[in-house]
Amino acid sequence: MSVRLLCIGECMIEMAPQHDGRYAMGYAGDTFNTAWYARRAAGPGIEVAYLTAIGDDAASQGLEAFIRAAGITPELTVRPDRTIGLYLITLSQGERSFSYWRDSSAARTLADELDDLPGVGPGDMVSFSGITLAILPAAGRDRLLAAVTRARARGARVAFDPNIRPLLWPDAAAMRASIMQAAALSDIVLPSFEDEAAAFGDATPAATADRYAGAGAAMVVVKNGPGPVHLREGGTTAQIVPPPAPRVVDTTAAGDSFNARVLVGLLRGEPPADATAAACALAGRVIGERGALAPV
Ligand code: ADP
Repeated sequence: MSVRLLCIGECMIEMAPQHDGRYAMGYAGDTFNTAWYARRAAGPGIEVAYLTAIGDDAASQGLEAFIRAAGITPELTVRPDRTIGLYLITLSQGERSFSYWRDSSAARTLADELDDLPGVGPGDMVSFSGITLAILPAAGRDRLLAAVTRARARGARVAFDPNIRPLLWPDAAAMRASIMQAAALSDIVLPSFEDEAAAFGDATPAATADRYAGAGAAMVVVKNGPGPVHLREGGTTAQIVPPPAPRVVDTTAAGDSFNARVLVGLLRGEPPADATAAACALAGRVIGERGALAPV
């Protein structure tokens, strides 16, 4: 019998510059990256599923085919009047910048009629992020959080990465309120200290962990780039130092791959400190390769 990890959010077309200046098309998005790395890290005992909305055009069908080919179960709503979002990476003197076309993407409607999270029962896990929340209209956000709450009441665990992106939110106060609301109904919160310090004024990773634990999260795993991961579980804390990365080529999806390995470890019953150490090792390999989805 397998357990299900259901990731929820937006996956976009990614246009990434290649060495010769031409562009290559791929697919990426924080929660999708987590699903992709989870599928690679998990054995046959874990089913990884991805819930989003797409259009019925060729681009959307391309994404669906990609999801299936990756071994991920698609949980898709089709919106014939919309299509999937897109982003373009521009390189200027080695620095990457991102341009987005996602304002009217299908994913923004993913929770419009959402009632129950499909196939999620006792022992399963649900994973979503602050980006998932940010792209939804207020009513969609409420529907999603209500569905997550029901899944949790049935015995599923809930994982949330605040993944704070102020530009996606109308204002900082609304952003902070939604992030804390989601954390309060989550079992596992996976924040990144740099983002949290900027948005909430936390002085240390321990302060970030305390704030989310205070909101109700039983486990908080605070990422901090090359610095120690601050793991707080119940009343205990641990510092887990990531191994030095042999090379840092592209930090895209470091946090997403880290989350994937933590969640897979927890689903397998690994002690949280072991799952976190393995997540550090995976993220350390991911940042040594180009692109969001690195087959490391
Ligand atoms: P995010 O991508 O969400 O901003 P971080 O930058 O904190 O997250 O990175 C997530 C994880 O990736 C870290 O906890 C660490 O394990 C690993 N990592 C990131 N940057 C480095 C680095 N320079 N050296 C080694 N590991 C790193």
